Amino acid sequence: MNYKIVRLNTSAKSEVTSSVLIIYTGGTLGMAYDDSGALVPFNFGQILDKVPSLMQMNIAITVISFPEPIDSSNVNMQHWVDMAYIIYENYDSYDGFVILHGTDTMAYSASMLSYMLQGLSKPVIFTGAQLPISAMRSDARENLMTSLEIATAKANGKPVVPEVCIFFNHMLLRGNRSKKVQSVHFDAFESENYPALAESGIIIDYNYAVIKPFEEGKKLKYHNKLDNNVIVLKLFPGITANVLDSCFDIKGLRGVVLETYGSGNSPSELWFLNALERAVKKGIIILNVSQCNGGRVIQGRYQTSKDLLRIGVLSGGDITTEAAVTKMMFLLGNETSDAEIRRKLIMPLAGEMSLTGIA
Ligand code: ASP
Repeated sequence: MNYKIVRLNTSAKSEVTSSVLIIYTGGTLGMAYDDSGALVPFNFGQILDKVPSLMQMNIAITVISFPEPIDSSNVNMQHWVDMAYIIYENYDSYDGFVILHGTDTMAYSASMLSYMLQGLSKPVIFTGAQLPISAMRSDARENLMTSLEIATAKANGKPVVPEVCIFFNHMLLRGNRSKKVQSVHFDAFESENYPALAESGIIIDYNYAVIKPFEEGKKLKYHNKLDNNVIVLKLFPGITANVLDSCFDIKGLRGVVLETYGSGNSPSELWFLNALERAVKKGIIILNVSQCNGGRVIQGRYQTSKDLLRIGVLSGGDITTEAAVTKMMFLLGNETSDAEIRRKLIMPLAGEMSLTGIA
């Protein structure tokens, strides 16, 4: 990949206290209006013109920009490999990492990176904006400045947040617990099943009890094999056998994230259960996640989910769809045995699900 590297001389004083690598992937944050009024990515070298307050930070900032910044709706597996690789390659040289990313698929990318970067003990903070940095009322400046502060925050010489997070609209959320829930207002992200890691106001108020603890001497491992032979299948009243069979007949399909109702419930009609059972017998792995934003799948709570348990559908507990589908791609790419993939799907790998209530 042909990265563009920009070093920004931001330190107002001579003494630089910490360093951050910004990875600019694209998204609304880094866009500006061109002469015709359309939004186009701007040259990140000009960031100091757009955010002069960056100059006051005593942080050495390097920016690596994707050669062609993308709208995050175009993000694919290669982009994830690139982001993870840039962090892996530069891991020892920086205190923390900030990834500027479109909001649309940020929760997917943050989830995937939390799996790919195992042994991570430095902050990787995803952020973006609902309005471009050049817009008067933009949320980009606050999101960027605070993300930089969080990426360099230390307590007793150790990083305060050694995990992959999303910082947006005053809230620091665990990346693989987040969901985009708002496309117009500034509060774009939520983490319904896990508390916020921090909230920023006049201070950044860290909730230390829920942040992954720093582990001394951890070595970063980078996994770059992913397999996208998966689908997300959302149930709706009126779904037909034809739809199910067509999905399960997809050539090469290995995994299905099944979005069920409430606490993991699905139709109890025979045609439905038989189709699922046939798929499981063919070796397709089915993970049950809820269409609800909060709560968890509890297979067996109602008769309508007991059968799923019997058939061999796995419970995703309180995982989000975003974290589930990326986890599936990650495990299918990295594990050789199906038994191991099944075992790991129902266990937390990077804090993406709770241990309690797994059924
Ligand atoms: N479509 C844009 C993107 O995800 C929206 C945004 O940046 O917030 O790249």
